[in-house]
Amino acid sequence: MKDNYGLNIWANDDFIIEKGKICLNTPSKPALQDMVEQIRATGLRGPILLRFPHLIAKQLEELYSSFKMAKKEFNYSGNFNAVYPLKVNQYPAFVKNIVHFGQKHGYGLEAGSKAELLIAMAYNAKKAPITVNGFKDKELINLGFIAAEMGHDITITIEGLGELETIIETTKSRFKPKPSIGLRIRLHSGGSGIWAKSGGINSKFGLTSTELIEAVNLLKKHGLIEQFRMIHFHIGSQINDIQPLKKALLEAGNIYAELRKMGAKNLKAINLGGGLAIEYSQFKDYHTKNYKLKEYANDVVFLLQSIAVQKGEAEPDIFVESGRFVAASHAVLTAPVLELFSREYSEKKLALKKQNPTLIAELYDLYNNIKPSNAIEYFHDAAGHLESVLTLFELGYVDLCDRSNAEILTHLIIKKTISLLGADDNADLMRIQSNTQERYLVNFSIFQSLPDFWGLKQHFPIAPLKYLDKRPTLSASIWDITCDSDGEISFCSKNNPLFLHDVDVKEEPYFLGFFLVGAYQEVLGMKHNLFAHPSEAVIIPTKDGFEIKEIIESQSIMEILNDLDYDIDEIESLINKQIENSNLVNENAKKQILGELYLFLNANSYLRTVQ
Ligand SMILES: *Cc1c(COP(=O)(O)O)cnc(C)c1O
Repeated sequence: MKDNYGLNIWANDDFIIEKGKICLNTPSKPALQDMVEQIRATGLRGPILLRFPHLIAKQLEELYSSFKMAKKEFNYSGNFNAVYPLKVNQYPAFVKNIVHFGQKHGYGLEAGSKAELLIAMAYNAKKAPITVNGFKDKELINLGFIAAEMGHDITITIEGLGELETIIETTKSRFKPKPSIGLRIRLHSGGSGIWAKSGGINSKFGLTSTELIEAVNLLKKHGLIEQFRMIHFHIGSQINDIQPLKKALLEAGNIYAELRKMGAKNLKAINLGGGLAIEYSQFKDYHTKNYKLKEYANDVVFLLQSIAVQKGEAEPDIFVESGRFVAASHAVLTAPVLELFSREYSEKKLALKKQNPTLIAELYDLYNNIKPSNAIEYFHDAAGHLESVLTLFELGYVDLCDRSNAEILTHLIIKKTISLLGADDNADLMRIQSNTQERYLVNFSIFQSLPDFWGLKQHFPIAPLKYLDKRPTLSASIWDITCDSDGEISFCSKNNPLFLHDVDVKEEPYFLGFFLVGAYQEVLGMKHNLFAHPSEAVIIPTKDGFEIKEIIESQSIMEILNDLDYDIDEIESLINKQIENSNLVNENAKKQILGELYLFLNANSYLRTVQ
């Protein structure tokens, strides 16, 4: 049976399978495998992150058109606005593209720190809004005022009364125009799922109802009530269930109406934060979210309208700060498989003796006579035999050569069983495969490239880039090249039944794609074992294929060490001295070693085998 790796569940029509390869779903349908091969032809090795700007544009179009349709359907009079939260991915190749594609919609940026606000001030599209969230000091607030003075349409959302006092203080010494002020509200209702900590009464952020009243009074007292234009909430990321969002909207809509009745006449907007979920699930019958964007947009518009009508207030402008939704799909990490660990168990390596111990002779018989009707039985026999041989070895009755033969034969029998039976839903087979996974060593770091898997066990779709027209026969666990036992994505027949192909990677490269990694993974990635952000390339689909733009190689070892504040000159001179004082008499040998070390320091730290 072929395996489509759940493309129908998670790929959102971004990728399709053509001639057994994963391809972009664009008119010319270029294959990811071809892209990787072409980039590697330039000499690059190790993992390569492919960026697809057209998928950023696609997500933005979907976001804006869904809300446009919802507004039309309900005849909603408030505006729809969106900003991109920079914390999701601040890499320039991403940010510049999202600003570019968002320009025509007036798509803005959201900043949560001074560094992010400076990026926003430099790159934000003309007339597009900027919002600022998160904890702020006097400097960050001052920077917000400077942005407004430069002409940006900026809203500083305060998280606590202390920040409001700083704003009141700052206003006195700054020029006009002034920034808009937003208040983050602390909702009674929270989100659900592993990223739900930002909402709810005990959340880290936001003003309680008592504080809101106090804030409005303070704003009035200091003549700033006209600057107060937005309320904001964010109930968490990857909201899988729409219900908590609806509750939050009702609560926020009522707070909006109440604050307006208290005299906040310029309060016009409700900012829903982010949280719009994407589908990460790769395996059937297991969806991670229970709604689509259309439903989300309709719910938002409908609920806010009904509250406005009920309370006799203007329909509010809607702001969203969806990050994951716009960023996740644009990046795919590709990495070569370096080794299949059980490949060493090949028939060639059998070293049968003239006279073998009975158990080994029987294993050999089982191997030669296995067929579909007896496969499960023989598999069980083989497993029992191997267990006995291992015990005999411990007791000293069989030698290392016998043990090796038994291990090889058992593995060969398992492989044969799997290929003879084949059906994925065979419970016995599933059990065998859970117990006998093939370990695929992959040239990448889970800590660097899938940190949410390491930290939160968030699964990302994984698929080989080719052979999708061939049945994969091996239950796979993925091992990265860090020397940390957490650097593993193990096979699990329930949650992660990943099967891959039995390929000889010495003969042909076999690449895996890790999908939906464009949100959060790049910036949260860490340099465990000093593996840096992978090399990256921007891919533009064209009429007859694709164009590779902007290849950026992964940091060199020297740059990584420099980032850790090592003194590179000192490292070089320490190494020089040791070579100078070594016992080598040959001056040329010294020169050669120095040259070799210099090359290492200037190369990236991923493995540079053939693959
Ligand atoms: C993180 C964050 C977002 C983005 O959330 P996503 O789940 O990526 O959409 C939006 N707004 C605020 C305030 C955030 O903290």
